[in-house]
Amino acid sequence: MNEQFSAAPLTLLSQDEQMFRATVRRFAAEQIGPLVRAMDEAQQMNAGVIRQLFELGLMGIAVPEEYGGVGGCFFDAILAVEEISTVDPAVGVLVDVQNTLCVNALVRWATEEQKRRWLPRLAADTVGAYALSEASSGSDAFALQTRAVRRGDDYVLNGQKLWITNAKEAGLFIVFATIDTSAGYKGITAFVVEKGAAGFEVGKKEDKLGIRASSTCELIFRDCVVPGNQVLGEVGKGYKIAIETLNEGRIGIGAQMLGLAAGAWGHAARWAGERKQFGKTLVEFQAMQFQLAEMATEIEAARLMVYNAARLKDAGMDFLKEAAMCKYFASQMAERVASLAVEVFGGAGFVKDYPVEKLYRDAKIGKIYEGTSFMQLATISKLVL
Ligand SMILES: Cc1cc2nc3c(=O)[nH]c(=O)nc-3n(C[C@H](O)[C@H](O)[C@H](O)COP(=O)(O)OP(=O)(O)OC[C@H]3O[C@@H](n4cnc5c(N)ncnc54)[C@H](O)[C@@H]3O)c2cc1C
Repeated sequence: MNEQFSAAPLTLLSQDEQMFRATVRRFAAEQIGPLVRAMDEAQQMNAGVIRQLFELGLMGIAVPEEYGGVGGCFFDAILAVEEISTVDPAVGVLVDVQNTLCVNALVRWATEEQKRRWLPRLAADTVGAYALSEASSGSDAFALQTRAVRRGDDYVLNGQKLWITNAKEAGLFIVFATIDTSAGYKGITAFVVEKGAAGFEVGKKEDKLGIRASSTCELIFRDCVVPGNQVLGEVGKGYKIAIETLNEGRIGIGAQMLGLAAGAWGHAARWAGERKQFGKTLVEFQAMQFQLAEMATEIEAARLMVYNAARLKDAGMDFLKEAAMCKYFASQMAERVASLAVEVFGGAGFVKDYPVEKLYRDAKIGKIYEGTSFMQLATISKLVL
């Protein structure tokens, strides 16, 4: 183990990390903040926000500099997802999928030629999407039915993906298909499919409860020809790419939920300091102080878990249990904190004029994607029992 990781407090940030966090925080507050409600209502990510995310280097955080990225580490991506999600978890998941799933998969599994072809684009102007789930395979992801049949040097894809984040904005899709349905998980292969490929279409966009500005769509493959040099990793080893990227990716969802809860807490604390009842501000009542203190404690616990999992990953150590636990805990915590924030606002918390109503809706997804809470508990059980 590298000595530099030996004994620093988890929340102690290096100077570079502090500067990075401050830049993302300012950008989120000034540039995303004013657009949050309109994006939620329109169910549309603002194109200018996406452009600025690229300009700030936030879409290629872990892309090595030689491929046009920032050359940051996984923890940097986690900090960015946390800070952005404090303002808008819908933008947070866009950045999360780009960095912790798409860039991560390419950095780890792509050939040199593939890296030169796609990483500079992901860092500069191309949104990525990660397509594993299907209508009949969610938690049981490896029961997927999308077929890839070899034809000469190419593969022909047929099937449908469901629930794919970033699909409307994406130019590159990491798509999991099977070359042999009877081979079970050993048939699963990962492909990189480009937007506009013949036989590939982005289908219906979902009308969701929360993170409404984040697009979630179906993908349709009808005799879609994918050149053999667009296979990611080895044929039949796509399950390994899926498992390993999702193991890491779920730390990002922990960060998204952490940011969401911190955002909700900030709104609640400000409101409690301004709103008067019985001749006093709400925060003067001990019952209110205790609620806010309890929320802050839970947020801090989640932060320690998320940072620890991310730092373990960067240190090259085992992080599987910590990743599952942080995702599980942070998503439970975010739902509780966002719910309490609505209550702190009283009636004002229940209407769209104030931001906590949206954060409460957004919190629900944390328990569902990148492995439901039950799936996290299944992983944790295997590792602790
Ligand atoms: C907004 C959104 C964005 C998404 N983005 C993506 C994406 O970008 N890429 C992608 O590939 N997928 C994505 N997904 C899909 C997501 O990962 C799945 O929805 C999730 O894995 C759950 O699968 P499911 O919906 O089929 O539910 P199911 O697997 O049918 O689960 C339903 C319920 O049954 C429980 N359950 C299932 N199996 C067991 C068991 N063995 N024991 C106990 N309980 C069990 C689950 O915990 C859950 O409570 C997204 C989903 C949403 C809603």
